[in-house]
Amino acid sequence: MQEKLYAAVDLGGTKIYAVLAENCGRILSSVRYDTQLDQGPEGILEQMAISVREVLAQAGAGSDRLSAVGVCLAGFFDWQRRVLIHSPNIPGLDQIRMEERLSEKLRVPVLAENDANAAAIGEARCGAAAGSQDVLYITVSTGIGAGLVLGGQIYRGTRGFAGEAGHMVVKPDGFLCGCGRRGCLETVASGTAIARAANEVLQSGKATLLRELSRQQGGTVNTATVFRAARDGDKPAQEIISAAIYYLGIALVNLVNMLNPEIVVIGGGVSAAGEDLFVPLEKAIQNFAIPPAAASVTLKQAILGVEAGVTGMLCLLTEAERIREG
Ligand SMILES: [Zn+2]
Repeated sequence: MQEKLYAAVDLGGTKIYAVLAENCGRILSSVRYDTQLDQGPEGILEQMAISVREVLAQAGAGSDRLSAVGVCLAGFFDWQRRVLIHSPNIPGLDQIRMEERLSEKLRVPVLAENDANAAAIGEARCGAAAGSQDVLYITVSTGIGAGLVLGGQIYRGTRGFAGEAGHMVVKPDGFLCGCGRRGCLETVASGTAIARAANEVLQSGKATLLRELSRQQGGTVNTATVFRAARDGDKPAQEIISAAIYYLGIALVNLVNMLNPEIVVIGGGVSAAGEDLFVPLEKAIQNFAIPPAAASVTLKQAILGVEAGVTGMLCLLTEAERIREG
């Protein structure tokens, strides 16, 4: 008998990434498209269906071999009604029965999940935290998100909104956040926050290495630029990085005290800074978290990168199948 196939789709604000995999997890084919935001919700649902048909075609597999499809995206779900309430990255994708609608198009069961939860499951099942039951996954990129895997399962909270670590208030008198409140973690420690602070330094006219690096990059600065300048001894860049790490450290210490995780995995673009980020964060946990919680936690860099979401969805699909088959 031929192996069952599963497709997973990561729907982002700029890209749609789809993969086809065998039951065991081996990836057979993949496609990446630009998300057609101008096509509206209907067009985006259709684009996701097309991406699944395309990975099947690429692998030379008939649609009869497809068992189920998993979709992950940044969004708030109503899990009781199985409705996507809102996606911050994709305008118009509100109050949609995404699983039902895609299932009608593809004629197989569809499972949808928040992208940070999917990435958390990916890292917890077969990534940096493989084998661990209590994992806190934090992604630090343009924004900051988190997924909690507690007792081996996604922890959702009472209505499904658990894990909004980016909106932990760490600086009450700080900047206004996209969520409408002030001082959220992502206003001071995300890639966006680091780049904004760098631009403020540039505009202030201070002497800084950032000016030359920015010129080399066509007038732009990003997190990598600031980490590089800091490593080369640039004071203003070092101050920006220390501030971001200080606030990220506060959030991590509180989360470690609250959840007593076995492993904290940090992913997202900012985690590419490696030791420059992980060494001071590790120190913050060891110095400020309650000693028994600090002693039992390991901080790790995510290893699945852009594959984290689809990997997590493939894990969830095969686990759901196992439960169905008893
Ligand atoms: Zn916020």
